[in-house]
Amino acid sequence: MALADQFDGLLVDLDGVVWLGREPVPGSAETLAALLAAGKEIVFVTNNPARPPARYAERLREMGVEVVPERIVTAGMVAARLAGDAAGRGGSAFVIGESSLKEMVVATGASLLEGEAGREADVVVVSGHRGFDYGELLTAKRALDGGAALVATSHDPTMPMPGGEWPGTGSILAAVETASGRTAEIGGKPERHLFEMALDVLARGSFRTKDVEKEPRERRVAMIGDRIASDIDGGRAAGLATVLVLSGSSSRAQAEAAEPPPDHVIENLAGLLR
Ligand SMILES: [Mg+2]
Repeated sequence: MALADQFDGLLVDLDGVVWLGREPVPGSAETLAALLAAGKEIVFVTNNPARPPARYAERLREMGVEVVPERIVTAGMVAARLAGDAAGRGGSAFVIGESSLKEMVVATGASLLEGEAGREADVVVVSGHRGFDYGELLTAKRALDGGAALVATSHDPTMPMPGGEWPGTGSILAAVETASGRTAEIGGKPERHLFEMALDVLARGSFRTKDVEKEPRERRVAMIGDRIASDIDGGRAAGLATVLVLSGSSSRAQAEAAEPPPDHVIENLAGLLR
């Protein structure tokens, strides 16, 4: 019996699982296509807010994995919603992040304050982006000292890339939190918000667990990811089965040292079919 047979629904992380930077992880596309063909319900969940869901869906389709944008939940979507709630009606936001995150925040009804005007913002939103600089850090600190709310997409310190990890959102957030003495509310994994949104998407599909009498529905859903601190710890907290893949951030030694360890450890996604 293949590992995937234990599950009806799968939450699948993207970076370090499906691809590394622009390079697909070998075997991931074929595995995902086979799982979809076998009737598994899949929702992709990522802490990476750099692109909108439609762009991730397009990348997956280019790899031969047929998926609609509604099946992709990003920490950017969740953080934008938290930011919109924090800003309130007619509120404003200062966003440290990519343009697609700024667009998601604006879509919640908040107005965007750019440059030094961000000092007056009602909420500061933080996410990794390559243009981060001292000016952004100073503006964020001024806004936070003035009482703005602080929301971030994740605490992930790094981002798996070909040739070695790059600094992630957590590295930039550490600077903002240190400068301001504040602690961010996190939209992405391991916090519950993203899991709640993803499980809602799963429930809206044709998701039907086969063994609902035998075990709780959550145990028929697996969180599959490459980072113990976000994917595995978050999946467990959400009541899901957990599968660590070793194609990204975490090593087998880290998996063995984790307390408690992931339910399953596989080299890469293809291990689901074995
Ligand atoms: Mg990952």
